[in-house]
Amino acid sequence: MLQCSRRPVRIAHSVARLPCLQATSRSFFGFAWNKKKSSAKREVHAEEKIFEPLSTSRFPDLRSRARSIKHVCKCPVCLSQNQVTSEDVQSSSPSPKANLVKFECPGCGYPTHCSEEHWREDTEHSRYCGKLREVNEDDHDLRSRREKYEFQLPTAQPYEETISFSNWDMFWYTRGFRSMDSDRMRRHASKLLTYPLTIASILHRYGYITTNNDRLTTEGARSLAALRTSLHTPMGSPETAQNSIGKPPTRIFVLGARAESALPPHVWGQLCYLFPSAIFQIYFIGPQVAIPREAMESAEAEAAAEEEEEEEIQPNTETKAAQVWEIPTPRYVGSRASKRRMRALTVSSGIPSYTLPYSPYLTLTALRTNYTQDIHDELGPFDPYTDLFVIYSPGFGFPSPTIPNTTQIASPNEWGGVLPMLFSTRCPIFVTAFSPADLQRDIKAVENTDGVAGEFDWIVTPGKNEFGSERWEVAEFDLRVMVKLNWAVWAIRGKTKEVRERRSWWPLS
Ligand SMILES: [Zn+2]
Ligand SMILES: [Zn+2]
Repeated sequence: MLQCSRRPVRIAHSVARLPCLQATSRSFFGFAWNKKKSSAKREVHAEEKIFEPLSTSRFPDLRSRARSIKHVCKCPVCLSQNQVTSEDVQSSSPSPKANLVKFECPGCGYPTHCSEEHWREDTEHSRYCGKLREVNEDDHDLRSRREKYEFQLPTAQPYEETISFSNWDMFWYTRGFRSMDSDRMRRHASKLLTYPLTIASILHRYGYITTNNDRLTTEGARSLAALRTSLHTPMGSPETAQNSIGKPPTRIFVLGARAESALPPHVWGQLCYLFPSAIFQIYFIGPQVAIPREAMESAEAEAAAEEEEEEEIQPNTETKAAQVWEIPTPRYVGSRASKRRMRALTVSSGIPSYTLPYSPYLTLTALRTNYTQDIHDELGPFDPYTDLFVIYSPGFGFPSPTIPNTTQIASPNEWGGVLPMLFSTRCPIFVTAFSPADLQRDIKAVENTDGVAGEFDWIVTPGKNEFGSERWEVAEFDLRVMVKLNWAVWAIRGKTKEVRERRSWWPLS
């Protein structure tokens, strides 16, 4: 990992407004930073196949997924013969002995068992075969040439039309999306929008998390009231861009950022339409942040990264302390061809980074580094009226992959020390989880770790996130493990009494 120095992170802000990037007909985690050229491709290809066995799929990335599953996934029948449960597969080290999967189930198109015989024997498979098939079809549909109306995001909201944040359906309807005709469209759209909407639906004054439904605590109501002073205009006055003049920007620090840092910028741009009188600065910070290739510091770093990429599908089951589902993140966003668009690309302090001044109301910054005290000091001072932290599926309670018998929240190589730093700011910290078990593990970890337990107040009580992704994500190491991005959400903030005054905004702007 590259070290950061005490020198400030220089980020240029002087770049002209970039062209608005529209939703394209291709995958969003693929990534659609560039507008596709040919309108001829926009015809509807209704007859296109949306189900194919993974290993013979016409899409190379899906064939490569089949290869990597065959490298790491063990046959569930062999495992049950050795009396190994799905839980054990996730936690045991070294991983249990069983044959790797080879045989592709004709029902779901996934390599699910070591042999046809074991596939026939498995009475459990039918329980998740349908879900796997749904994922297979979603993946093929996503890459197909069908015009994806669900990715056509609306622009400015008419002033007199209020947006409802009760759930996805109400949101899509009141926000003027084209009607979502199928569950598949809902799944695609919810996965695309879950990251910005999880936050927007809580921060917005018409958000679904309130004291009435017991999701918001008294402390939380105070925190949100503070943030809303910069996000909204006073009740009754128009929410227009003119009213953003003179307002401080709302800074959203996304720590441990992965896939969310690779979303096309116009997806985050939706925040500006939901809060027309606010100014946003979003910071993606984490060792897995996706940044443009050009932002890598040196040729050596790039070479090292390429090596890592090649190693990606190598079996690694024996050395990993724990196998947990991880959000796949592309290392890079944009293509070399898009270099000219990626203005303000600045590398300093030895941290690969970039800033994208997407519009006068939204700036996206990415720093590929751990969240250290140095970074914290450089970004501070923080103000609970304008700053908030977001951690999407941090896995606080997962075992650390680097230090045995330690959870990630306590491990200095992962989240150790980060929460106490954030507590000192008194800014709210929003956290998501991708399954009930994941949520439980994380809550248990924050409530039982020295330096964290007893140091915070609840803001949003743990519970279902109405704006989670509706799509299943499948773990390659065990196809029985299926989760949904941002399934749950909760929030806390530090108990520190003293609120420090903010001396300046982003110190170098
Ligand atoms: Zn087997
Ligand atoms: Zn199947």
